[in-house]
Amino acid sequence: MPWPAADEAVFDLIRQEIHRQNTTIQLIASENFASPAVMAATGSVFTNKYSEGYPGRRYYGGNMVVDKIEDLARDRVCALFGADHANVQPHAGAIANMAVYQALLEPGDTVLGMSLDHGGHLTHGSPVNFSGLLYRFVSYGVTPSDERIDLEQLRDLALVHRPKLIVAGATAYPRLIQPEPLREIADEAGALLMFDAAHIAGLIAGGAHPNPVPFADVVTFTTHKTLRGPRGGAILCRSEHAKAIDKAIFPGLQGGPIDNAVAAKAAAFAEAATDEFADYAARIVSNARALASALAEHGFRLVSGGTDNHLLLLDLQTFDPDLTGKEAQAVLDAAGISLNKNTVPDDPRSPFVTSGVRIGTPAVTTQGMDTDDMQTIAELISRALRNRSDDTAVAAVKADAEQLCATKPPYLGLEPQL
Ligand SMILES: *Cc1c(COP(=O)(O)O)cnc(C)c1O
Repeated sequence: MPWPAADEAVFDLIRQEIHRQNTTIQLIASENFASPAVMAATGSVFTNKYSEGYPGRRYYGGNMVVDKIEDLARDRVCALFGADHANVQPHAGAIANMAVYQALLEPGDTVLGMSLDHGGHLTHGSPVNFSGLLYRFVSYGVTPSDERIDLEQLRDLALVHRPKLIVAGATAYPRLIQPEPLREIADEAGALLMFDAAHIAGLIAGGAHPNPVPFADVVTFTTHKTLRGPRGGAILCRSEHAKAIDKAIFPGLQGGPIDNAVAAKAAAFAEAATDEFADYAARIVSNARALASALAEHGFRLVSGGTDNHLLLLDLQTFDPDLTGKEAQAVLDAAGISLNKNTVPDDPRSPFVTSGVRIGTPAVTTQGMDTDDMQTIAELISRALRNRSDDTAVAAVKADAEQLCATKPPYLGLEPQL
């Protein structure tokens, strides 16, 4: 076949990225290492197909196999979470949320969501996001005392503002979110409840966190975070909302689905249903707890005092009032440790600078790191930040990080497939 020759510029960069992922510590809470099966499905011939519509109701021919893969993905995810209906076509978590708003709300409707600087997501009403532009979002947050979701405030706001929808879920919140009290508040206020499980879908699938499906009208999530699948989103809902949700995704917001991503989602849903995955979910949490207590011993303050999930938030203000999240992220990048700056509750600094960093354990847990490795990682973070003006010391941390990764590389011997 007269295929063009492989473009060395691209494939050289793929090799560089494999090397980076194999030799530096990945602590970004929203990232993970997908399995070879998930990556093979992502790189499969399903990328060539157009299939606007849904199984049995497509706008193009040739969808006999695509229908089977989308049905497989939908059946698997419904079984995994015990849901009535699933839409596996959202290109991303943000689109999944957009579709729910489009399905359930009119522009201008009132919605309750978690405030961004307390851990909520851009799509939960940020003024620079479509959600904040199209809908009237009112924000709830965490208490100043224990830095956990302030349910009393949430209930008061719901009863005063009478939102049509309450959005639960977060992007930077280290504690367990109980779905049941949120359902009670939604019922009392006459609101629908959406649970955005983007970050914790894998913890729910693995049984480490409570399943919101029995309590929420709609659950959205991403497939690439703790769930460890391909980049993408999904929506689960009660049957009564199925038609509106499907219509909002297509033709409401998207054209054709990314069928190779749908195939990879099907592969990931099967992986997430195994006993090994339940064990993985439990180890994500025990690693996060171990990392949190080790960092506390090194003198860092943890927002809310610890973690129940896959992430922790470090408030750097007490560690070193001059150290911003932005600088910490840059220093740690140079030290072979990848994480992100993050605001802490009521952060005096802007979201571009911040006073904190967010640290997650999904990726390092996938590569087999354990609670002893978490002690090492805490020591490396502490050493790099304390000696941040000393380039030699930071380079020494990078060498140690590489040594740690060499014991458990995620993608040993992986080469880009041609
Ligand atoms: C990551 C995230 C999203 C968005 O997912 P994308 O795939 O990046 O669009 C939505 N909600 C929450 C809570 C998230 O953490």
